Amino acid sequence: MTVTRFAPSPTGRLHVGNIRTALHNWMYAQKAGGRFLLRIDDTDAERSEERYVEAIRADLAWLGLIPDIEVRQSQRFASYEARFAELVAGGHVYPAYESAQELDLKRKIQLGRGLPPVYDRAALALSEEDRAKLEGEGVRPHWRFKLDHGAAIEWEDAVRGPQRFDPATMSDPVIRRADGTWLYMLPSVIDDIDMGVTQVVRGEDHVSNTALQIQMFQALGAELPRFAHAALLTGNEGKLSKRLGSLGVDHFREIGIEPQAVRALLARIGTSDPVEPVADMAPLIAGFDFSRFGRAPARFDEAELAQLNARILHQTPYAAVADRLPTGMGDAEWEAVRPNLNTVAEAADWWQVIEGPVEAPEPAEDDCAYLAQAAAVAGQIDWNSDPWHALTAALKDATGRKGKTLFLPLRLALTGRAKGPDMAALLPLIGRDRTIARLNG
Ligand code: GLU
Repeated sequence: MTVTRFAPSPTGRLHVGNIRTALHNWMYAQKAGGRFLLRIDDTDAERSEERYVEAIRADLAWLGLIPDIEVRQSQRFASYEARFAELVAGGHVYPAYESAQELDLKRKIQLGRGLPPVYDRAALALSEEDRAKLEGEGVRPHWRFKLDHGAAIEWEDAVRGPQRFDPATMSDPVIRRADGTWLYMLPSVIDDIDMGVTQVVRGEDHVSNTALQIQMFQALGAELPRFAHAALLTGNEGKLSKRLGSLGVDHFREIGIEPQAVRALLARIGTSDPVEPVADMAPLIAGFDFSRFGRAPARFDEAELAQLNARILHQTPYAAVADRLPTGMGDAEWEAVRPNLNTVAEAADWWQVIEGPVEAPEPAEDDCAYLAQAAAVAGQIDWNSDPWHALTAALKDATGRKGKTLFLPLRLALTGRAKGPDMAALLPLIGRDRTIARLNG
């Protein structure tokens, strides 16, 4: 059974990068017929907030990325404690007593000598008595995971291909603070083991964490999940943009972006497949494959999202939006205006154009008689089939006008705007009486 997990820390709102990771996890599980887990990484009680947990749930629901299960790290401390005890017993973790300032100084000295700032394992050299003395002085240890320097850490990443890290070049990671609280690294591994996670899908900022975590899986005698690290998102300018960190579901909703558009874009950017305006996730899921992911950063372009949103709306059936349209607006009205929409909210503007009243600009002098004539013709044509063509054909014959001079004064008088939906679709909806009244000014 394939199991993926999305593991946000509830210390803020989801941004577009997190959303993309959630989507990848969801799509992968969907394709495999597996399970998608939401894991709230709330071991940091000080920075985690309940309102963010709720916002994460709401954002995922809006996006249609519904987790099969939700778990919270804050409810799993007993498991972490038990596994930690195993690691202590197995000699895989050790207490360290350096203060943050001491560690900082060590790093500075190493850097000054041109050495990599790797933890020197001084704590491992402490004797039983040294430790007792420190603890007697009230120094509480933090805990480090002891990396096995025996062999390179290797895995085949589903996106990045073969990966190799030399553990001797890495610091033994701190997994537990002096006050007993957990850092993210070990709880995540314990959860992945206990929840049977088969595929860890996250951003490439976690690649070196993966190297460390692989040794934790091994120290706990567990099988490794597979790993996929997607290249990060960049903004339009091509660099990591601050703006991306603030773009999330609230912003998308506010500017009228549909969840389908967010999904369609984020499912494909950074892959070798084209971004396409598909509302239905089924084809996107069917084609989802980490081997299509590129190594270069994926570019997120807000203008592209807006465009995709419009193109998806242009195909959206009435039933899918009916409850968000003005009362009275029916299927025919939706079909008539939808090719012109950037957002669903704009449908209300066109509904107003259909229903009236419409504020038309004062017609040009040459057009006054023309519009009066149009009103007369509108009274005579057959309104049951294609009145727009009947009206304009009759006016063309009668006046010799064509092109813009034939059509534009009519459009302006009838809709108050120079541009808009196809008049052939709009006119039957405006109807005979309103048409005549508007043409008469
Ligand atoms: N809470 C971690 C984060 O948001 C989870 C990383 C992971 O997927 O393991 O970065």
